[in-house]
Amino acid sequence: MNNPSSASRPVRMVIFGRQGAGKGTQCVRLVEHFGVVHISTGDMLRGAVAAGTEMGKAAKAVMDVGDLVSDEIILGIVRERLAEGDCRTRGFVLDGFPRTIAQAEGLVMILGEDELHAVVDLDVPLDEVTARMKARGRDDDTDEGIARRLELYEKETRPVLDWFADRDLLVTVDGLGSETDITDRLLSAIATAVAR
Ligand code: AMP
Repeated sequence: MNNPSSASRPVRMVIFGRQGAGKGTQCVRLVEHFGVVHISTGDMLRGAVAAGTEMGKAAKAVMDVGDLVSDEIILGIVRERLAEGDCRTRGFVLDGFPRTIAQAEGLVMILGEDELHAVVDLDVPLDEVTARMKARGRDDDTDEGIARRLELYEKETRPVLDWFADRDLLVTVDGLGSETDITDRLLSAIATAVAR
């Protein structure tokens, strides 16, 4: 019973949260529990940068200053990834996408009749995520980069949360506490959403 989705249907979900909210850690646990594919647009872009592809070169400059890569590029890579067989059979958790209303609308188009089962906001306060990002020291975690990304999250991504809330899909989960407590909260919120 470790993987309820294999016994029933593939689960399709989105996890939101400010950078530094612990989405990456929790996604590992969601993958273990639901057997879904973890799709992080940030990881895919960093992979393209490391591989030195044309897209990676274009994305790097944008990522370095904490801006958003164009909707067109992002929707292209997500569309390709979601069309792969593992996403269709195992379901997925989208992490770091959609970040704009245009991306949310694009996602709905890509999914067609395959509806999302759960959209979760892993909620961690601004001062806490700022402190965590300063401590982790990733390449793009300069003070300006952190401030810019958090500002963009409020400006561009908050409306996306409202967009999902208007469609009755959004569940907010308290992202403070121990990793296991947060996982338990997430699993119960998602189980409720999937059962609807
Ligand atoms: P993340 O690992 O999700 O914080 O993403 C790192 C960086 O990749 C972001 O600061 C953006 O520059 C870029 N990025 C990742 N996902 C997206 C997206 N859905 N839309 C636009 N830019 C993105």
